[in-house]
Amino acid sequence: MEDIEALYDRFRACTAVSTDSRQPQNGTLFFALNGPSFRGADFAPQAIAQGARHAVTDDATLAAQNPEHYTYAPDPLLALQALARHHRRQLIIPVLAITGSNGKTTTKELVHAVLSRRYKVQYTRGNLNNHIGVPLTLLSIRSGEHELAIVEMGANHQGEIALLCELAEPTHGLITNIGKAHLEGFGGQEGILKGKSELFRFLAKVGGTAFVNTLDHRLAGLADLVPGHVTYPGPTDTYPATLLSAAPQVVLRLADGTIAEAHITGDYNFPNLAAAAAVGAYFEVPTQEVAAALAAYAPTNNRSQLVQTGRNEVVLDAYNANPSSMAAALRSFANRPGVSNAAKVVILGDMFELGDESSREHQALGHLLAELPLGTVVLIGPDMARAAAVDPSFRYFATKPEAASWLQQQPLQGRQILIKGSRGMGLESLLDMV
Ligand code: ATP
Ligand code: MG
Repeated sequence: MEDIEALYDRFRACTAVSTDSRQPQNGTLFFALNGPSFRGADFAPQAIAQGARHAVTDDATLAAQNPEHYTYAPDPLLALQALARHHRRQLIIPVLAITGSNGKTTTKELVHAVLSRRYKVQYTRGNLNNHIGVPLTLLSIRSGEHELAIVEMGANHQGEIALLCELAEPTHGLITNIGKAHLEGFGGQEGILKGKSELFRFLAKVGGTAFVNTLDHRLAGLADLVPGHVTYPGPTDTYPATLLSAAPQVVLRLADGTIAEAHITGDYNFPNLAAAAAVGAYFEVPTQEVAAALAAYAPTNNRSQLVQTGRNEVVLDAYNANPSSMAAALRSFANRPGVSNAAKVVILGDMFELGDESSREHQALGHLLAELPLGTVVLIGPDMARAAAVDPSFRYFATKPEAASWLQQQPLQGRQILIKGSRGMGLESLLDMV
């Protein structure tokens, strides 16, 4: 590969960075990344033909023949990451990294809503939180324009957050919580704690600031890793907040008594909202502005979304699911006011990526469902068979189409319905049936 300075000059001459030749290119720097079933180099000429200004590829012949349009890199992914790190090092702005088992994207969106009241903020779009998405986010930060950046970091195995920190060099960090997500790759919940704590260890190394959620005891135990930490949302914490109501929407009281009425539902969103308020207070966004930003944020991304279908009120939480987010969503739904318990329906799909723990966790979910006061329980997917076996009153369907045709025949009216399952289940398509 050319040296990093030469690649950086090319980057600065381009409009943006792209990795998908199907997207419009107009002057981009295209990285021909390899996928599990394709060679990126095969798409580089297509990207150039569609207007990319330059492409980084592992096709040495192509680069030798046409150096104007192609730069050779033995591993274009490593080149992308090196470029992102180089760019980050030119920036002198605070970078806030957000990781955790659940609620990263929600918290990131909320923090963005709050901070952009006062600053020009760049932030992770959608869920681009991995070894490719983080470099892309970093490279989208414009020097001299953005005053702050928020980077979501996802991980499903040890060492991943440490790598992302080396790229993003966060000055501030927030771990939403330690739950049971990606149990398979992390090696149990202790492994998750270790993996997520890589963010705090990085901050300790660079003298950064950690935002510590003291509602999560495992996180509170990590606070001392980072000398420069602040805490939320307990009464004696740096940034206290109080949950006043969890449904139909979360209402919270901020430190100076200001009330914020959010548009998201479920008590499990309280720490997400409180985190955004803490970050806002830390960066000196006036409390009234913080409250207004929290109130104005309404999700449209299948996460804790309230939908009135005309017949029923749906809590659409079909974006993903794991044992801890499932339990949090169910307990919160069971306490939701508005209809009798008999009128409550939950439609749940398989929880993926649980490895050896899968059948035990699905069975435990079955027991939780049996304890909660819920009218109708509908379970979908092969793994849910374990949960369904706990109680004969549960409705079980091995596939989504079978569940869909059953739901279509049900005269569901005036109900509250929770829909939740792993991303691969795509349960949002059932919304049309209720
Ligand atoms: P991913 O790992 O896919 O990036 P994420 O951590 O970004 O997920 P979100 O997309 O914000 O998480 O939320 C996904 C779901 O997690 C929500 O729909 C909700 O059910 C649940 N959730 C959000 N916040 C919390 C929380 N603080 N505790 C438990 N569950 C939560
Ligand atoms: Mg996310």
